[in-house]
Amino acid sequence: MMRAIDATRLYFDRAADHMDLSANIRELLLTAKREVSVQIAVELDDGQISTHIGYRVQHDDARGPMKGGLRFHPEVDLGEVRSLAQLMTWKTALVDLPFGGAKGGVAVDPSKLSPREMERITRKFVDGIHDVIGPDVDIPAPDMGTNSEVMAWIQNQYQKYHGFNPGCVTGKPVELFGIPGREEATGRGVGILAFKMMGRLGRKPQQTRVALQGFGNVGSHAAKFLHEAEFKIVAVSDVSGGYYRPEGLDIPAVLQYSREHRGLKGFKQAERISNEKLLELDVELLIPAALGGVITAHNAPRIKAPMIIEAANQPVWPDADVLFHEQGKLVLPDILANAGGVVVSYFEWVQNRQHYSWGINRVRQELDRVLADSFERVWSMAQERNVSLRTASYMLGIGRVGRATMLGGAT
Ligand code: GLU
Repeated sequence: MMRAIDATRLYFDRAADHMDLSANIRELLLTAKREVSVQIAVELDDGQISTHIGYRVQHDDARGPMKGGLRFHPEVDLGEVRSLAQLMTWKTALVDLPFGGAKGGVAVDPSKLSPREMERITRKFVDGIHDVIGPDVDIPAPDMGTNSEVMAWIQNQYQKYHGFNPGCVTGKPVELFGIPGREEATGRGVGILAFKMMGRLGRKPQQTRVALQGFGNVGSHAAKFLHEAEFKIVAVSDVSGGYYRPEGLDIPAVLQYSREHRGLKGFKQAERISNEKLLELDVELLIPAALGGVITAHNAPRIKAPMIIEAANQPVWPDADVLFHEQGKLVLPDILANAGGVVVSYFEWVQNRQHYSWGINRVRQELDRVLADSFERVWSMAQERNVSLRTASYMLGIGRVGRATMLGGAT
């Protein structure tokens, strides 16, 4: 089984080969600035002591303070966090934000924790890393298993050490220095980019059937915006499995159901299928918006969709990616497809630094502009250099980081 970090390395090398980067420069760009692991010992509600490890990998700061989410998931390990931190570096550079890349993670299962236990774990983690994060150093944000409440605890705990400074974390509740539109941002970005891609291909959304895996924050918002753009969503899924309706799902009804029932379990107006089967459906557009590593050489030959948008981080493994490229399938890579989140995180950070609030219209307008520009750049680069959208995205991101590193004096 390939590891996440090896997958990122392969994608990096593929782009670096097209850029003629030397082995020394590759080593320099790939080596993390700093990696920390801290003990997180907390008392559970039943009085037991529970000990975890919290990771923060700060990959690169050549272009600005490091930026990236914090993940709570049972399978988190240092390798995965390293890989995700690197992706953040290429992502922020690709969409041209003045940030570097970082990522954090704690190997816990949030579904087995009470809110108070989550809070204790979060605060303990901040106790361990507060002196290596901050608005000019490294700014955490939500990721899988964390949300705006967790960000509020981070802010609160951080300020106990360093005083008021809401720019130390993004994705906060709107009532607590957050920005309107941050929660929807990643899903909205997926919608914007899907629409752009169809435009480039001369294809109508109404004639584009979509299968969407994952109905968390990213998946559910993507469903909403794709539906508004008149895509025909035929399947959605969450941990309870897949829900398929070949004629198209009633997305407003699905959204309402999932809000009321905290998930899709028990949704009746669709055929039940497995998460694996959803990936193999006869659709034009497949959007994995849940876990990484769900599409590998193992199931790739059965995947029918000619277009894939990686709303999750690292859903497509390189062995599958090679096959898709040979088959002429189009894959819009994670570092562009899900960049909407970090773009609006940047607006939130700017808002916090200026103490001047942004309205939702301004957020949406500027997000649309940033993503549309980046999409056009990636598309042109892919055509000019005859490379995949992924390789073009990496080349753009790596090129910017490389130039900043050399201009700043690397050694
Ligand atoms: N966790 C998100 C990502 O993978 C957002 C990061 C951020 O907003 O800093 O891009």
